[in-house]
Amino acid sequence: MPRLLAVSKHQPAEAILALYQQGQLRFGENYVQEAATKQQALASYPIEWHLIGHLQSNKAKEAANLFDWIQTIDRAKLIPLLAKERPTHAEALNLLIQVNIDDEDSKHGCDPSQINRLAEEIARYPTLRLRGLMAIPRPDPDISRRKASFANLHRLYTELRLAHPGIDTLSMGMSEDFEQAIAEGATMVRIGTALFGARPASK
Ligand SMILES: *Cc1c(COP(=O)(O)O)cnc(C)c1O
Repeated sequence: MPRLLAVSKHQPAEAILALYQQGQLRFGENYVQEAATKQQALASYPIEWHLIGHLQSNKAKEAANLFDWIQTIDRAKLIPLLAKERPTHAEALNLLIQVNIDDEDSKHGCDPSQINRLAEEIARYPTLRLRGLMAIPRPDPDISRRKASFANLHRLYTELRLAHPGIDTLSMGMSEDFEQAIAEGATMVRIGTALFGARPASK
């Protein structure tokens, strides 16, 4: 069974709490500042927090302290910053390498050729733990093309696992296409709209 990450961007802390009380423990946020506010409101609950939005270098320190997972590692520069800022008394920070699977100019994520290099860098630091890969395929209305992207990602994940057998997470699939992603081997799906309904307008 794939793990379910509830994507709570633009949702109030009360909506997160309501889902938590039904047994959902993992939540994904896109913005460091927005997450910090909700985490403060929900500090007494043992929620597992994932950053799934782009991480700017100047937010690395805050992110290394606030999140349990960061799914958007797409350049080498972030890695020593996060390693240094992760408190040594905390559990290692779980990281996913974000891959630009459809070679989109506008998208974040590393080129597939960079995956090994980033994985080697992460493996050097005891305060970090490599868990796998994440991607957002191009939102192609032709679902069969998304299937091909998911299959590609699964192949990259399988290759990475040969060198890093401890990895266990392939994060792909959102409200529209999680069924295709699961069919192609997703171990974590990131669902917002299908769980919470349409997002309130951003503040
Ligand atoms: C918003 C978001 C999701 C969830 O999208 P839905 O279509 O609402 O399920 C998943 N992953 C990332 C990276 C997102 O930014």
